[in-house]
Amino acid sequence: MPVDNNSEISQIRHLLRELLTGREDPEGFFCFCLSILGNRGTRIQFVELISLLSYYHPQLHSQLITIYEGYFSKDTDDELELALALSLADISHQTFTTWSVPLSHAQVPLTSLPKGETLSGGINNTAGKTNSCDAPKTSNIMKESGKSKPASNKNEHRAEAASSLANDNDSQEKLHGVNQPEQSRKSRRCQRKRQQQLLKSPASPRPVLLWFRRDLRLLDNPALIGCLELGAPVIPVFLWNAQEEEGPGVTVAAGGACKYWLHQALMCLNHALERIGSHLVTIRAESSSLECLQRLVDETGAGTVVATALYEPWLKERDEGVFKTLQLQGVSCQLHHSYCLRDPYTVTTRGVGLRGIGSVSHFMSCCEQNPVGAIGAPLDAPPALPGPSTWPPGCPLEQLGLARMPRRRDGTTVDWAVNIRRDWDFTEEGAHARLEAFLQDGVQRYEKESARADAPNTSCLSPYLHWGQMSPRWLLWDTRAARCRSPKFQRKLAWRDLAYWQLVLFPDLPWESLRPPYKALCWSSERAHLRAWQRGKTGYPLVDAAMRQLWQTGWMNNYMRHVVASFLIAYLHLPWQEGYRWFQDTLVDADVAIDAMMWQNGGMSGLDHWNFVMHPVDAAMTCDPDGTFVRRWCTELAALPDELIHKPWKSPASILRRAGIVLGQTYPERVVTDLEERRTQSLRDVADVRRRFSDYVDQRSGCDLVPLPDRLVKEVLGSTGEVLRRGSHFLLPVITRMEFKHQSAEPDEAEGHGNPYSAVLKGYVSRKRDETIAFLNERDFTASVMYESTQRRERAERQQRLLDGLPAPPSSTNRGRGRPRRTPTKDHYSIVPGGVALPPKLCPLGEGTANGN
Ligand SMILES: Cc1cc2nc3c(=O)[nH]c(=O)nc-3n(C[C@H](O)[C@H](O)[C@H](O)COP(=O)(O)OP(=O)(O)OC[C@H]3O[C@@H](n4cnc5c(N)ncnc54)[C@H](O)[C@@H]3O)c2cc1C
Repeated sequence: MPVDNNSEISQIRHLLRELLTGREDPEGFFCFCLSILGNRGTRIQFVELISLLSYYHPQLHSQLITIYEGYFSKDTDDELELALALSLADISHQTFTTWSVPLSHAQVPLTSLPKGETLSGGINNTAGKTNSCDAPKTSNIMKESGKSKPASNKNEHRAEAASSLANDNDSQEKLHGVNQPEQSRKSRRCQRKRQQQLLKSPASPRPVLLWFRRDLRLLDNPALIGCLELGAPVIPVFLWNAQEEEGPGVTVAAGGACKYWLHQALMCLNHALERIGSHLVTIRAESSSLECLQRLVDETGAGTVVATALYEPWLKERDEGVFKTLQLQGVSCQLHHSYCLRDPYTVTTRGVGLRGIGSVSHFMSCCEQNPVGAIGAPLDAPPALPGPSTWPPGCPLEQLGLARMPRRRDGTTVDWAVNIRRDWDFTEEGAHARLEAFLQDGVQRYEKESARADAPNTSCLSPYLHWGQMSPRWLLWDTRAARCRSPKFQRKLAWRDLAYWQLVLFPDLPWESLRPPYKALCWSSERAHLRAWQRGKTGYPLVDAAMRQLWQTGWMNNYMRHVVASFLIAYLHLPWQEGYRWFQDTLVDADVAIDAMMWQNGGMSGLDHWNFVMHPVDAAMTCDPDGTFVRRWCTELAALPDELIHKPWKSPASILRRAGIVLGQTYPERVVTDLEERRTQSLRDVADVRRRFSDYVDQRSGCDLVPLPDRLVKEVLGSTGEVLRRGSHFLLPVITRMEFKHQSAEPDEAEGHGNPYSAVLKGYVSRKRDETIAFLNERDFTASVMYESTQRRERAERQQRLLDGLPAPPSSTNRGRGRPRRTPTKDHYSIVPGGVALPPKLCPLGEGTANGN
């Protein structure tokens, strides 16, 4: 088979260069040639292709020749190879057979692969090319997603290699003169029989059930690679049992938006598996996952179940039960860790202690002090997945009921996910494209500007991380290798692990306040307030914009989550569990561990009290200085000037009229107006419960006390001073907001003069905003040119005087003004929105009331 395709030759030449520079090893190079040229092509072409090496790299040349000879010296009639060829030929006839992927090939380290070629169906696909490996027709997943992309060149070639092997078989038949249809059919039947005998023979390995739960990806998936290492046919399965997901309390683990994402992600995973010659079997595990797996084992004769670990305590318990039972029945089970960077069950406080527990720095110290092994390098996606001879039946993905849409009375469907579909690409490639875009651009602003709601300065990877379409390890490697690194961003992955650790320590985290006194807080039961908050109709544009973004797209950035959480808790006095549950139902990245940890902290009862409260107007200075974000989501306010966009109630009637706004009609009136008073009440309530439950307040430090979870008791036994002992119980002092301590210690003073530790953030008033600086620079361009030329002249004059031995003249900028100031008396950049500082007299809105209400 002559190689007449230039692009194939040039690809091989390219890889030859990689080989010479040590970025590819000889086996990898040989495998690549096989995948490009096919069996026959390699046999004929390979020696010639590497002939030049014999002069300059004789050692490498002879190594390659050894590999070549080793490979082709095998008896081509070898039964296994025959089975392989047959199975590949039969891919399009949906019959799958056993064959093993050379592992050296499957596990090419990620770092050695050029970007965009790492993923099956990679990011930089060549448009229009299709995978020569047809999808098996037994696939039970509906093919509706339009977003999954064709296979990458590399995988295409791998698939081509497969079919070329099969073709080789055909051509050999021709060569031996058995190309008459009848003979050919006979020979095929005969071969298939032999192949089935092979599969039934005691030597043929039992299939492996690859139990997909949340790591829905091919790239860097240790469970997937673990299956390949077993050298057996692999049956990827996904089982759905909503009750098991939910756990013992109210977790809303399977919220609407998140389930919708799962539906799409499963569809994409199925497409990705199809590209490597497999597919996903989806099953509704009506009674239990265990029962379903047992049935699968019976049906398929599977000998092993492989999965990646989940860390929610109730899922871990389920998995332990499932694996124990299966093992008793002779099925071996493998669990791989990859969902978090650190397995939360291995994190201990040994050597670090408990002071500061709940903070990310404490958690990182625990991980540093107690390393349990390297995170390791990410794994490549396998080029192919061997399938079984017969597939177990599944149900269509739709029947899992993950993406159910309500119906109107007239029978039409309410497609609430239309915007989610518009905004997100649910594929693994989509995740990598987001990461790529972030590392090219957003990461440069992440350290200082990740709060901005009006700019894409964060990665938007949370749903992909949640469903495991990108591994945290992959993310870490890529961010570390990026041109611009952001330590803050890397720390976010530690936050993620911290959340799982907290959930492991406190399994009630999603529904029960960790600080006992706060369970008795006097929360509001005003349902109308809750509904206004949920629907983005509170009358506070920043809060409303964020809640509408959440409703429509299933996502909002971290800063906005803080803003809306503060508003719900500190100003509406609604319990944090309401916020948690709404988020769980509406976020595409709804994650029980992270969501619960954050809402507990925001709800004043978590391990790490937020030491701040976001004000619904002042926060805009930081996240939406000129109202772009609000204009996008609250379009009815779009015509308001920048200075009023975050507080329309301050607008003079004439401006409202011109902007076409009627408060209470086109845009809601504020649900609460007395923000200051409501905050003060919230502080009083906290002081009250702390007084009533003083057993849970450390009288010495004023910190709240939390009962020590069982998992930590053993770790602290023997250490003194860090926990208080009450009988057989241990109480742990935890980070407590200064404002609360002061309110409890000095209630009268706090009431009279206001709490000096007030946690309300005023926005980053001293931040020099880029656009304001740009504006001032433009305005002052002429002045700055004149200023610079004056300085140049002064410098020259000073040097001349120095040469002449005369004293230096006073600088023109300081003349008559005393010592120069290091910082200007007035911060030009503080007054945002509006861009430019206005003297109070000229400010038409009476700017400057403490909280803008
Ligand atoms: C009240 C509240 C509820 C939240 N609920 C969730 C949730 O259900 N699911 C969720 O994934 N995140 C949640 N977060 C954390 C954070 O807001 C999101 O992870 C982040 O906004 C996702 O956007 P991103 O991917 O652009 O984040 P980036 O800033 O780009 O961060 C990268 C990744 O780090 C992780 N991460 C970032 N911030 C945190 C954090 N504070 N805690 C733990 N991990 C973090 C996420 O996996 C994120 O994708 C919540 C935050 C708050 C304040």
